[in-house]
Amino acid sequence: MSTIVHLDLDAFFCAVEERRNPLLRGKCFAVGGSPQHRGVVSSCSYAAREYGVHSAMPMSQAIRLCPDLITVPGSHSLYRQYSHHVMAVLRQFTTKVEQISIDEAFLDVSEVEIGAREIGQAIQTRVNREVHLPCSLGIAGNKLVAKIANDYGKGQFRGNGFPNALTVVTTGMEADFLRLLPVRSLWGVGPKTASRLDEMGISTIGDLAVSSPDTMFRSFGQTGLELVQHANGRDDRPVYPGSSQSKSISEEHTFPIDTTDEMKLREQIKRIVRNITRRMNDQRLRASVVRIKLRWADFETITRQRSCSATDDMNLIDQLAESLFDQAWALRQPVRLIGVGVAGLSQKSIQLNLWDVEVQKNQRIFDTMADISVRFGNDVILFGKDLQTRKQNEERSNENPP
Ligand SMILES: [Mg+2]
Repeated sequence: MSTIVHLDLDAFFCAVEERRNPLLRGKCFAVGGSPQHRGVVSSCSYAAREYGVHSAMPMSQAIRLCPDLITVPGSHSLYRQYSHHVMAVLRQFTTKVEQISIDEAFLDVSEVEIGAREIGQAIQTRVNREVHLPCSLGIAGNKLVAKIANDYGKGQFRGNGFPNALTVVTTGMEADFLRLLPVRSLWGVGPKTASRLDEMGISTIGDLAVSSPDTMFRSFGQTGLELVQHANGRDDRPVYPGSSQSKSISEEHTFPIDTTDEMKLREQIKRIVRNITRRMNDQRLRASVVRIKLRWADFETITRQRSCSATDDMNLIDQLAESLFDQAWALRQPVRLIGVGVAGLSQKSIQLNLWDVEVQKNQRIFDTMADISVRFGNDVILFGKDLQTRKQNEERSNENPP
């Protein structure tokens, strides 16, 4: 029998920001783009969630729901360093760690010879103590149930802190655990599928588990059969060691006002390509797919992509992105959002230990900084680029004394 852990850092970006600036602790705040630039919430504190704020919501809407909301622009290079550190801690438990996003991973701990709850507690304690971040874990016999268990456990939390939840589903109890949950809790069941299932009288995972595979196949094809399997708590996908996190790198820009200015659009493409290639260089990656995304004023979104031989050449990536833009731009509609991404990433051949040394070095610098700010306060040490942000935050908290 397998023992699979799903780990998810709690309100990750916010937890990092709180660690940097303890004044934010327990406050309503959100990390994301500014409302003036039609930014969206990428992460929000649990205190803000009480007001109905959630991620992917326009920041302006978040502020309407929670007028005292403090907004913090993200510091993604810092988040990446924290993420590296967490993954390094996880790899001390097993080499079978599959990172699925900046703050989520699966671990296959089947070969670790202690009980599921004990290993969960050990992992959580290490992440809490060594990286100083809260995290929630779901543990079960497979990925599907581990992830759903974790979502469920976190979802039970109410309050201003962090869930730091640990939810274990005992082997053999998978279907029982899932039975009363809504079908939406299953992977791959979006609003459309959920409403079609609802019309068929299927609203809980338990309903789905006992539904006729024939009917499901007729309505949803192969996916329907998989859904029935999953509803019964069955999933045989292995944990793939490595990172699916860096399978693509992308960045988007939302214009404050929809634009048809071609120069402006091309400038954005160039700027985003510069950022993306910088991130590729940081991670020593080359890409073999270039993508572009355009969202028109009516929110319709199109993507175009092209393959190339593996490259990290900024000019080449820019040329490819601009030629994709040329195709899409034939329509000349007002653009709300533009994005560029690269995928098909592979590691440049360079001695791995060099890279490891660099990661460790960064981590040490970063840990030292974190310790200094905890011991001597936040004003002692700052990234240059954060000075402006701090000033803004201070002005805001002066306007809204606690
Ligand atoms: Mg998370």
